[in-house]
Amino acid sequence: MPTLRTLKALERERLVTPDARLAEAAEAMAIAITPEMLGLIDRADPADPIARQFVPSAAETEILANELSDPIGDEARSPVKGIVHRYPDRVLLKPLHVCPVYCRFCFRREKVGPGGEALSAAELDAAVAYIKARPEIWEVILTGGDPLMLAPRRLAKLIAALDAIGHVGVIRIHSRVPVVDPARVTDELVASLKPRRAALWFAVHCNHARELGPAARAALARLADAGVPLMGQTVLLAGVNDDVETLDALMRALVRCRVKPYYLHHPDLVRGTGHFRVSVERGQALMKALRGRLSGLGQPTYVLDVPGGHGKVPIGPGYLGDDPDALLVEDAFGGQHRYPR
Ligand SMILES: *Cc1c(COP(=O)(O)O)cnc(C)c1O
Ligand code: SF4
Repeated sequence: MPTLRTLKALERERLVTPDARLAEAAEAMAIAITPEMLGLIDRADPADPIARQFVPSAAETEILANELSDPIGDEARSPVKGIVHRYPDRVLLKPLHVCPVYCRFCFRREKVGPGGEALSAAELDAAVAYIKARPEIWEVILTGGDPLMLAPRRLAKLIAALDAIGHVGVIRIHSRVPVVDPARVTDELVASLKPRRAALWFAVHCNHARELGPAARAALARLADAGVPLMGQTVLLAGVNDDVETLDALMRALVRCRVKPYYLHHPDLVRGTGHFRVSVERGQALMKALRGRLSGLGQPTYVLDVPGGHGKVPIGPGYLGDDPDALLVEDAFGGQHRYPR
């Protein structure tokens, strides 16, 4: 079965009923639901957390006044096409804009899609040359779109070009492919993720334990068995994972797949995503609850990407209170303790 890409296909699968606002939502952002994700949707559950992430909703047509078309300010920090350079020691490199699925809450919602063209060979060369000319760039983060949508040979070529730059110590890949289209994680692909010199780290985007079906778990195992260090990236989303049991189950599932939870992203101010938004106070309360019940291995850092291109900062709950002559420390179970200054 092919990836579902049209409202008609979603209608045939009884995932939507025709509606003018839905058509407007589908117009604003491409649709893609892989067979793997389709197979994990529970049709009996009207609030299915997988369907909610990928099936367009009429709510996407509601644009709130504080929402932004470039929510994390990528454009202000892009010196050459395909590069975002916000921190001195690391850059994002976006070789293409296509993804295996289109997540309705995507922070690059207005950039991703089959219409957004990939970098041409000359543009990719220029992006690599930008990195080569700047010895302060220690880490290159391949993102997009999804870099695993490149043909394995092209991805291998790009990784080799970065590996040949002596000052690049780390190549990091951010991808949703192992979870949503695990069949793409072939031996050839895994082999391309082994640069000879630089360290390669792999961040997997996953928002609910139910996304991790047997094929996804096997794909992650292939990567881990090949020695690729894995970390997890999750977006906090209303109606998908904004309760402590769901987050607890997700983080445990990731750790069981040898994926270390890295970031829990506060949802960005993306246009048309108000129905996914959670308050920072709620996010902090969830993090606090997780701390009391889950091993450190399963604790992500809760971060906010500050609008305007100012980068990410941790916004997790505080555990320190003030007192004139001692620190007040709150433990993970709510107890208060004094600690000498
Ligand atoms: C998120 C991001 C990074 C990576 O940040 P880390 O905190 O190192 O994961 C780097 N550059 C840009 C532009 C980013 O948005
Ligand atoms: S896979 Fe990532 S970049 Fe692509 S639509 Fe989903 S969140 Fe956006």
